[in-house]
Amino acid sequence: MTESTASAHTPTVAVIGYGSQGRAHALNLRDSGFDVIVGLRPGGPTEQRATADGFAVVTPADAAASADIVAVLTPDMVQAKLYDEVLAPHMREGACLLFAHGFNVHYGRIAPRADLDVILVAPKGPGALVRREYEIGRGVPCIFAVEQDRSGQAEAFARTYAAGIGGARANVIRTSFKEETETDLFGEQAVLCGGASALVQAGYETLVEAGYQPEIAYYEVLHELKLIVDLFYEGGIGRMLEFISETAQYGDFVSGPRVIDADTKARMKAVLTDIQDGTFARNWIAEYEAGLPNYNRYRQADLDHPIEATGRRLRAQMQWLQDAQGTPDAAPDARTGTPQPQTEAA
Ligand code: NAD
Ligand code: MG
Repeated sequence: MTESTASAHTPTVAVIGYGSQGRAHALNLRDSGFDVIVGLRPGGPTEQRATADGFAVVTPADAAASADIVAVLTPDMVQAKLYDEVLAPHMREGACLLFAHGFNVHYGRIAPRADLDVILVAPKGPGALVRREYEIGRGVPCIFAVEQDRSGQAEAFARTYAAGIGGARANVIRTSFKEETETDLFGEQAVLCGGASALVQAGYETLVEAGYQPEIAYYEVLHELKLIVDLFYEGGIGRMLEFISETAQYGDFVSGPRVIDADTKARMKAVLTDIQDGTFARNWIAEYEAGLPNYNRYRQADLDHPIEATGRRLRAQMQWLQDAQGTPDAAPDARTGTPQPQTEAA
């Protein structure tokens, strides 16, 4: 690391991968005054998008060779091969290796070169939100961690990067690779993605099986959830209670614990145990390496659930959703299609 970059506030950053997080980080960092290089496989699926956004796209190897900070923002399952075959041989002596999720380092799939700083900056939100909040002058909170500090500047790099993507406008909290990895996996499995979608599907099925109209069931258990979550976001559960009726509050108090009870919590603890002892990671890696047979089946089952067709019909009547179609703002996760195991690292 040169003296100027070690002390400067604007190190050169190579963003490897231009998907959900990669695009948001690259755009925000550039707008914050960083020199940003985007590293992508030639002809890869997101190359055109990066070019259209005004980035000069180079190969991951060339990007890695010319940066002070290399941000690894490809899917987790390709990172180990990418690091071993492309990044490790090309990164500068003493450069900084940055992740947005600790999975590969925590579970020992990547053993970074001893001369590198190794840090984590994880925004607590999907990439589209990281970009949108930044554009309107706000930010998504970030957590950061330092795994290796060879330069003595690793924490400063993490804080500078978190500020550059807008996280410092909200909050930046120190964590460890272990804590970030385990809590992130737990959150998405038990509450945010797995828990929330299963709750919505079960609620919809319960109403429709009892003979109620699917459209009304959709509004009730999916559409209105946004309004509730907005209140959580603004002021916690207390704010939601202020805004709902006394009848809704009483129903919440007596029926919430009937649905999510001590057994549910015991199963949540089992989910956490699988994350902590590496069972989940082992299963996911095996699934990926087998060509995603179960993943594809589970995904198709979600897409085929009747609530999806009902929702498509009803959302077609909300013009503002049509106007926003296809923009990253409208699609919190702009990825479409199914990831496929990568046979080439770059
Ligand atoms: P993504 O799937 O949206 O994007 C992947 C990008 O990497 C694409 O540009 C793709 O073309 C490229 N890519 C794929 N294989 C590659 C290879 N072998 N070499 C070079 N480029 C390759 O990924 P994402 O969801 O943004 O996840 C990136 C990282 O951010 C992961 O570590 C993830 O855990 C973390 N993260 C994601 C989110 C989120 O909301 N999606 C939130 C926090 C952290
Ligand atoms: Mg997360």
